[in-house]
Amino acid sequence: MGERIDYDVIVVGGGPAGLSAATVLGRCLRRVLVCDAGNPRNARACGVHAFLTRDGARPGELAQIAREQMARYGVEFRETTVMHVRREGDAFAVELLDGTELRGRKVLLATGVVDKIPAIPGIEELYGKSVHHCPYCDGWEHRGEASRCMAEAITARDSRWK
Ligand SMILES: Cc1cc2nc3c(=O)[nH]c(=O)nc-3n(C[C@H](O)[C@H](O)[C@H](O)COP(=O)(O)OP(=O)(O)OC[C@H]3O[C@@H](n4cnc5c(N)ncnc54)[C@H](O)[C@@H]3O)c2cc1C
Repeated sequence: MGERIDYDVIVVGGGPAGLSAATVLGRCLRRVLVCDAGNPRNARACGVHAFLTRDGARPGELAQIAREQMARYGVEFRETTVMHVRREGDAFAVELLDGTELRGRKVLLATGVVDKIPAIPGIEELYGKSVHHCPYCDGWEHRGEASRCMAEAITARDSRWK
């Protein structure tokens, strides 16, 4: 009973890292399950930029394509949160949100990172729209804006003295 193995690898996290790993493992003929809680780091982004061949794609679109491609190799996907992982002999017991317990030979953690947004009033509403943390990801979309704003502010200030 304790020897039951459901998957060779259970991947926790279905963002770019988890989906890439799962695709490679699927191609290596491993039986793989990806569990994803559906809260990717770039959820607030309007588009993915500077990602070769997919510049401008919506983040969800990228994940959808990746899930379809890994399914070709038999990789399974569940939208769920992994609540606990514990070692059991040579395997790992993985408990899902609904209480299901699965056993995998290996567990691959690809849970990403969580950004701590500074506690500045109004920032929550603007994060991902006009407040960004990465100039490579979103800088081009706002090119020239600071100088334009500055020029407009100077014009407005000067017009007050006329
Ligand atoms: C606003 C913003 C804009 C960005 N724009 C770009 C861009 O334009 N170009 C670019 O290349 N990069 C961009 N990035 C960076 C990019 O999003 C990250 O590099 C990428 O998401 C990292 O992938 P990941 O798989 O490590 O993590 P994530 O994408 O965060 O995926 C981790 C996944 O694991 C899941 N998870 C966590 N814990 C559990 C659990 N216990 N059980 C099940 N699932 C779990 C989460 O729900 C999530 O779906 C941006 C990031 C942000 C925040």
